[in-house]
Amino acid sequence: MRIAIVGAGVSGLAAAYRLRKLGREVVIFEKSGGLGGRVNSRQHKLGYTFDVGATSLTPRGKSIEKVMLEELPTTELVKVEKPIWTHSGLRTSPGSSSKNSTPRYCYQNGIQTFANLLGDGLDVRLKTDILEIKREGTGYRVGDEYFDATILTPPIPQACQLLWSLGESRPVANVSYRSCVSVMLGYQAESETPYHALIDTEQVHPLTWLSVENAKVPGRAPAGGSAFVAQLSARFSQQNYAQPDDYFIDATVTFLKHLYGSAFASPEVAMVKKWKYSQPESLARFENVNLPGSTLLVASDGLLGGHIEDAFECGWRTAELLA
Ligand SMILES: Cc1cc2nc3c(=O)[nH]c(=O)nc-3n(C[C@H](O)[C@H](O)[C@H](O)COP(=O)(O)OP(=O)(O)OC[C@H]3O[C@@H](n4cnc5c(N)ncnc54)[C@H](O)[C@@H]3O)c2cc1C
Repeated sequence: MRIAIVGAGVSGLAAAYRLRKLGREVVIFEKSGGLGGRVNSRQHKLGYTFDVGATSLTPRGKSIEKVMLEELPTTELVKVEKPIWTHSGLRTSPGSSSKNSTPRYCYQNGIQTFANLLGDGLDVRLKTDILEIKREGTGYRVGDEYFDATILTPPIPQACQLLWSLGESRPVANVSYRSCVSVMLGYQAESETPYHALIDTEQVHPLTWLSVENAKVPGRAPAGGSAFVAQLSARFSQQNYAQPDDYFIDATVTFLKHLYGSAFASPEVAMVKKWKYSQPESLARFENVNLPGSTLLVASDGLLGGHIEDAFECGWRTAELLA
C-alpha cells in the first residue's frame, strides 16, 4: 500500500513515522523548503536561535512520549527549567505553580530538531505545493504519482481546498484558526530573567507571549546577549496583519524597552513571521472527519487541539486507521 501525505508538519511526520514502522510505503509532499510546519526555528548568523512558531513541547500522550524520549534520543533535548510568569502591561508576577509543574522540552538548536528527527530517512518531496488531488481507480493521483491512500495535514481551511478539488467535504465548518504575528529580536545586552516566558493571561495587551529564548535554552544568544520571540495577540495580529514588518518590530521593541530598560532600545537582529493559521480556536471531532475504511484521511491540530502533541496524536491515529 502506497500512501501520500500532504504536509510535513508534526501531523504528517507522525503519520509517516508510524506508517513506516508498520511497513507501509509513504511519500510526503511539502510545499516549503523544510520539515516541521509551525514547528519552526531560525538560526541567525550572529549567533541567535529563535523558535518562531511553537515554543516548547510537552509530550502528553503515550505515543509521543515514547517516540520523543525513547526512540529519538538526542543530546540536543533540553528540559526547560525556568517557569512561565504572567505580565499585565509592564507588571510581571510568578505564574500558576500547577501550570508550571508541567514538564516542557525544547532542543538546543531549535524546536524544529524534533521534526527533523521524526522525518529522518522518510521520503519527503520538499518545495512541492499540492494544488489538487485527483481520484484514479480506487486510489488517488497526487503530484503525478499514484497512491492507494492519502492523508491531508495542512491546517483545516487549506485541507478543505484539497478536499474540494476531489469534490469531497468533511464536517469541519466550525473549525477556525487565530492569526499570530511573531517578532524575533536579538540584542547585545543581557537579560537576567527569573522566567523563560511571559504570558498575558488577561489577553488585553497586544503582546500575548514573550519567550526569552536564552532563558528557555541557554546558548540561544551570543555571550552577553539576549534573544526574544514575541507573539502578538490574535486581535492585534488580525487587525494589523497587512502592516509592514517594522510596525510589529516597533511595537515589540517599545515593550521590551519599558520592561528591561534603554539597553533594549536597539536590537541588532529583528525579523517577523506572520502565521495566518497559528492555532485553532474551535475543533471538529476526529471521529466524525475520519471514518473507518476511508482511504482519504485528515490529520491536523484542528481536530484534537492546538498543540504539537495533538498534531502528533492526530497523525498517529490516521496511520493506525489506514494500517
Ligand atoms: C506562533 C505559534 C505558537 C505556538 N506555540 C505552541 C507551543 O508552545 N506548544 C505547542 O505544543 N504548540 C504550539 N503551537 C501549535 C503547534 O505548532 C501546532 O499545533 C502544530 O505544529 C501543528 O502541526 P500540523 O502538522 O498539524 O500543522 P502544520 O505545522 O501547519 O503543518 C502543515 C504542513 O503542511 C504544509 N502544506 C500546507 N498546504 C500544503 C500543500 N497544498 N501542499 C504541500 N504542503 C502543504 C505546510 O507547509 C506545513 O508544513 C504554536 C503555533 C504557532 C503558530
